[in-house]
Order: sequence, then C-alpha cells, then structure tokens
Amino acid sequence: MIRKTRVRFAPSPTGPLHIGGVRTALYNYLYAKQNGGDFLLRIEDTDSQRFVPGAEEYIIEALAWCGISPDEGVEDGKIVEVASEKHSHAPYRQSQRKHLYRKYAEELVNKGYAYYSFDSSEDLEALRKEAEAKGDTFIYNHTTRDTLSNSLRFSQDETLRRLNGTNEWVVRFKMPENRIVKMKDLIRGDIEVNSGTLDDKVLWKAIDELPTYHLANIVDDHLMEITEVIRGEEWLPSLPLHYLLYEAFGWQDSQPKFAHLSLLLKPDGKGKLSKRDGDRLGFPVFPLQWTNEQGETSRGYREDGYYPEAFINLLAFLGWNPGTEKEIFSLKELVEAFSLERVVKSGAKFNPDKARWFNQEYLRKESTLSLVDSFKPVLLSKGIDKNDAYIAKVIDLIKERAVFVNDFWSLSDYLFVAPSSYDQAVRTKFWKEDTPAVLKEIIGMLEGFEPFTKEALEPALSSFIKEKGYQMGSVMNILRLLLVGESKGAGIADIMSLIGKQETISRIERGLSD
Ligand code: GLU
Repeated sequence: MIRKTRVRFAPSPTGPLHIGGVRTALYNYLYAKQNGGDFLLRIEDTDSQRFVPGAEEYIIEALAWCGISPDEGVEDGKIVEVASEKHSHAPYRQSQRKHLYRKYAEELVNKGYAYYSFDSSEDLEALRKEAEAKGDTFIYNHTTRDTLSNSLRFSQDETLRRLNGTNEWVVRFKMPENRIVKMKDLIRGDIEVNSGTLDDKVLWKAIDELPTYHLANIVDDHLMEITEVIRGEEWLPSLPLHYLLYEAFGWQDSQPKFAHLSLLLKPDGKGKLSKRDGDRLGFPVFPLQWTNEQGETSRGYREDGYYPEAFINLLAFLGWNPGTEKEIFSLKELVEAFSLERVVKSGAKFNPDKARWFNQEYLRKESTLSLVDSFKPVLLSKGIDKNDAYIAKVIDLIKERAVFVNDFWSLSDYLFVAPSSYDQAVRTKFWKEDTPAVLKEIIGMLEGFEPFTKEALEPALSSFIKEKGYQMGSVMNILRLLLVGESKGAGIADIMSLIGKQETISRIERGLSD
C-alpha cells in the first residue's frame, strides 16, 4: 500500500530553537512538500523538568517567520488540542496525550518485551558510583538485571504487591542479550549494532504516569502515521531501541524510514556549534531573539536583519547541496531540488561570512522601491521625513555595500544630516595652512556652478584643483571630512549632487568656521 508522506518535527520545548533544529524542520518541510505530503509539528514535553515557558510559542513563531509553518498540529499560531478533520491526531502536545501511553507500556510487559523495575534511584546511584570506583560503568541490562529489583526475578504476587504499594516503579525495555539489530538510514546506509551493549531503557514511569521520550516518540509516530523520521544525529544511538520497539509492537510494516542529519559544526570544524561560538564570533545561533528567565537576551537572525528567505537558503546549504553551482534558491526551488540522498554524512561547518553573503545576495535582488519602504521607518524614527525619490537615490548609491537594511543608516547618515563632529585624526593630517583659502575658492566656484550633477561636478572639481596647483589628496580628503565627518562614504561629486548646492556650501562653510 502506498502511504501518503507524513513527516514531523518533534522538538522538546526546552528553550529557543537552535538553528540546527530549524534546519531539521526545514528538511522535513522540503521533503513533505516535494512528496505532496504533510508536515506535522508535535511538542515532546514529557520531561517536565526541562520545560521552559515560552519555548513552544517561540518554535511556532520561528517556523512561521521562516515560511515553513506546519500543515498539521498548529492552528492560529497555537498547538492544536482538540481533534478536527484537518488535525485528526490531536492533541499534538505529548503531555496532553499522557493517558495514551500506559497501555502500550503494559502491552510490552505482557508480551515479554518489557518488565517492571522497582529499584530506587538511590540504589541505582550507589551502583553507578560503585562501578565507577572500579573504573567500570554500571549498565542496567542482561549483565545486571538478574541481580536487581524487578519483575523478572519476583513472583507474580510479589510484583503485584510492589506495583500497588508504591509509585516508585518504572517499565523497562528488555534489551535482547545478543541480537544484531540491522538498520537502514536514508543518509548513512546500512547500520548494524549488537544489542548486548545497550541498556534496558525506561519506557514509562509510575511516579508521574508519563512515558519517556522513546516510548512516546514511537507510539506517536505510529499513531500519527509518520512515514519518514528526519532528525538530528544525536538520536542515532537510540535507533536500535526504536527498531526493536517497532518489532515488539508488531508495527514493522508501517515503521517509518529514518534519516539522521549530521551536526552543525563550529566555523573551525572542531565540535558542535554552540551559542558561545555565536557570542564569541558575533553571529546568532537562534532564528529569533530570545530572552531567558535570567533576563539575558540572545541575538536572532530576524532581529539582526536577515531576510527569512536568505536564512532558509543558507540553512538548506548547511549539509545539503544541489550538485550544481547554483546557490540562490527560493523555498519553492528548494522543494523541487532537495533530496535526502544529497544530504552529507559529515558535519556541516557554519560559516558566518557565507551567511552574511546570502543575505547580501537577497538584498541586492530587492527593488529600490521595496528597499525605500524598508528604510523609511528607520528614517522616520530619527525624525527624517525625506521624499521617496531622494531615499531611492541614496539607496542606489549605498546598496552594493550593505548586507542588511540595518546597515543603511550607518552607510548614509551624512546624506540626511550634516556631520555633528569631525574625525580629528583626518583633520590634523590633511588641514594645511592654505586650506581655508582653498575652500573659499571652491565655495566660489560651486556657487555659480550649473548643472549641479555628479557628471558635471566630478571633472570640474578635479580640473579646478589641478589648475590651481593644489594637492588633490588633501583637498579631497578635507572636502570629504566636511561633508561626511569622517573618511567614509560615496564619491565627493555623488555626495554634493545628492545633498544639493546649498547644503554642500553650508557644510563647507561650517567647517571653515569651526
Ligand atoms: N524530542 C526530540 C528532540 O527534541 C525529537 C527527536 C525525534 O525527532 O525523534 O530532538
């Protein structure tokens, strides 16, 4: 039977989504859309100790900003709690599915694939310490379970007595002693692991009546009819257990295929990309700004001025490439070009310069008109109310040097307001005894000059300075200083023609009197 493609992004709400998580969501989205399938969001919040308020809303908002909102599980910006035709598998928050999981844990016990374990956490901790002292690692599996406190050793009566007497028990998976688990990964190919090295993972806990990640994840992927699981490499060690769980439930026929994505690495390739790398090297590792409970704020791509399209494009290339030279892809083009086969097995190094490059490419593609619209609010916030035609000319002049719209102001402030101070180092270097006289002559020349355009001004200024025998370098640097305030900015003639004759002369005069 051909099943409809259904993939899910299943984050735990433990904080803001790292860009690696957004990439996982993106690859899931691309895969779903390419196959005409569904992209679901499921919130895996069974670990209440790691729950962070606001994280769920953050995830939903981040996906929406990226333009990859889920088809199922979210409506009106919220996780769906009540089933409807479109969201037939609700609720999509695992804590609200709590009542579902116990029977699955018990089914495995009844079939002999799992057992009850009564060991207290203190006892297990003591065993861990004892093993450590001997240079060993304690592992709860076939090597130790016969000596521990569990239903495999106790009589039925004893087990029942303990189950009813306390809630300090858990259901553990009975990991086979010696089984070669054969697995397939869509990116990594065939994988084999001997189950003898693995532990008897906890599946369900009586204390809070909650499943652990492993049980909830498998049960929900099954119930939600997931066809492919695309997730981070950190879950690869859990894959044998997941395979064995599908087998134990008898769900092999509908078992999803798996693809594990490699890690995002630090720019130097040495280790996993962390928030600290971003802080150290000056780039965000989160899609949106995030303020934690201590009031510390972390940067976000959105607030840093990235276009969501550029962000998605750069993320897609962290671990995937189309096999051609083409690098700029719209979301629609990514949907067409993406394939799991072309996802790399090795870690993808994050390159902050390349990230900026992507945004610059998108900025360059924007029309001047739309950039005017983006820049206008910035200008208005500074009390500058210039007409669109003027702003458009400014943008045409600076666009090539900007990476973000956020750069516009610092690249063009002098085209809107006269400098309020002058760079003293530049002044000392280029201000000569005859500078005031030269500037006066230039003012005289500019006063009668028409047309006051860049094309006319450029040759006229340079021949004027040459004819008079002045030093081109110092005169031009001083002019720039008086027009801009420092040694940055567009060509002198460009600046003059844009700000106009009157403003040019008044800025030079002010420099003379300062
Ligand atoms: N809740 C897991 C996470 O936060 C999901 C892993 C999976 O996709 O199976 O990464």
